[in-house]
Amino acid sequence: MTTTEVHIGLDDIDSPSGGCTTHFSALVVEQLRELQVQWLDYPNLIRLNPAVPFRTRGNGAVALRFEVERNRIEELTSLVQGMIMRYVTREYPNTNPGFALVEGAIPPEIRGISKRALWRVLPRTLAQRVARDTVRFHYSEGNARGLVGALAAIGNVLGDDYTYEYIAYRRPEECGDERGVDHESVRQLDQQMQSELFSNLDSQSGRVIVDPHGPDPVLFGIRGETPEAVITAGAMVRARQGTERWMVFRTNQATGAHLEHVVEIRHLRPYMTAMVDVSVTARPRIIEGGHVIVRVGDATGEIDVATYEPTGDFRDVALRLRAGDRCRLHGSVRPASRTHERTLNLEGIEILHTAREYRLQNPLCPRCGKRLKSAGRGKGFRCTRCDFKSSEIQKIRTETDRDLNTGFYLPPERAQRHLTRPMKRLKKSNKGIPVQLVDVWCGHRNVTS
Ligand SMILES: [Zn+2]
Repeated sequence: MTTTEVHIGLDDIDSPSGGCTTHFSALVVEQLRELQVQWLDYPNLIRLNPAVPFRTRGNGAVALRFEVERNRIEELTSLVQGMIMRYVTREYPNTNPGFALVEGAIPPEIRGISKRALWRVLPRTLAQRVARDTVRFHYSEGNARGLVGALAAIGNVLGDDYTYEYIAYRRPEECGDERGVDHESVRQLDQQMQSELFSNLDSQSGRVIVDPHGPDPVLFGIRGETPEAVITAGAMVRARQGTERWMVFRTNQATGAHLEHVVEIRHLRPYMTAMVDVSVTARPRIIEGGHVIVRVGDATGEIDVATYEPTGDFRDVALRLRAGDRCRLHGSVRPASRTHERTLNLEGIEILHTAREYRLQNPLCPRCGKRLKSAGRGKGFRCTRCDFKSSEIQKIRTETDRDLNTGFYLPPERAQRHLTRPMKRLKKSNKGIPVQLVDVWCGHRNVTS
């Protein structure tokens, strides 16, 4: 009996009744247990470039890694394929499921796709070619977009920094109803386990952000640094709807893995996520909806930077920028449309240097000290108190206080990307900490409510 190492990638497996890829992967994990697989890792939840269009629910793909008897791979493959076909409805045009299976070592081409999928848009034809040439089995439907994510998940073994998320799922029949997550229970556990958890509360508003609002099967998700912490915390969450199943994912969420490239403005491409070193070239302006647009440039070109109203204080930071300020911007490129030019959507900003700002004022009266009035264009100044007049005297330039400090700024947690490294994790990394599977990292129970 020979066993072999298997990596399964799953992406874009959504259903019109509100399914999602992580929920589907929890169902697959339960089925694989019956095949006596030996797990090599927690299921990996791999978030990909958040700027990629046409995607729902945060652009997350899943990889499952395990050992299994070699002669069971065929069985396993048709099992997963059959499950996808039952889970996804063909009449649902928004889903383009992808499934790939690699046996043995992960080919370098797939690792390459993983790296690029964090910040670029990959051609589907590339994924199709790599899948054809290097994987044991692959399957996709629709436009094959899901195949990109499936391969990208397989190739990302989370060898750098990583975190965990405990996701609780409700019964699909209940997906139209209110979750009823008790936010007080989340505040309590967050208080008790502060150092091991992050991004479960929005630190600016105090709002609990563990429960989504859509009709999907996710009841809530708890983000943290260790599997033990998220499992303990997950069990403390109270909700009106019951947890039908739960699973712990190891993930690249909150690691900033999508922002590792500094790119010149001339090299920015649509939907690219990158860092750009720039100087502000003009005073920010507010457009309809309260969004702030800042014009910036580097030696290679200029671009508009957009910061959106719901980001609150973060938007106000952008509003305080002035010409000459130097910063490193974190963001994604929105391509030009009929109504706006190419724009960088801001998701973080390091302010490196603030320019001095001056304002011009009328001078004081040399005779009586009152501030002079202009005597008309080109006619100098006059005093309204003592009638002093002068055409020689000049406006005076005074430095104003800048209400903006150098440093790093992020939007509040509620507006952050899944991949954004939050303030709480700025100096934290789990790289090199060995992954050990706890005894119970997923569960299933029949709930009645
Ligand atoms: Zn005067």
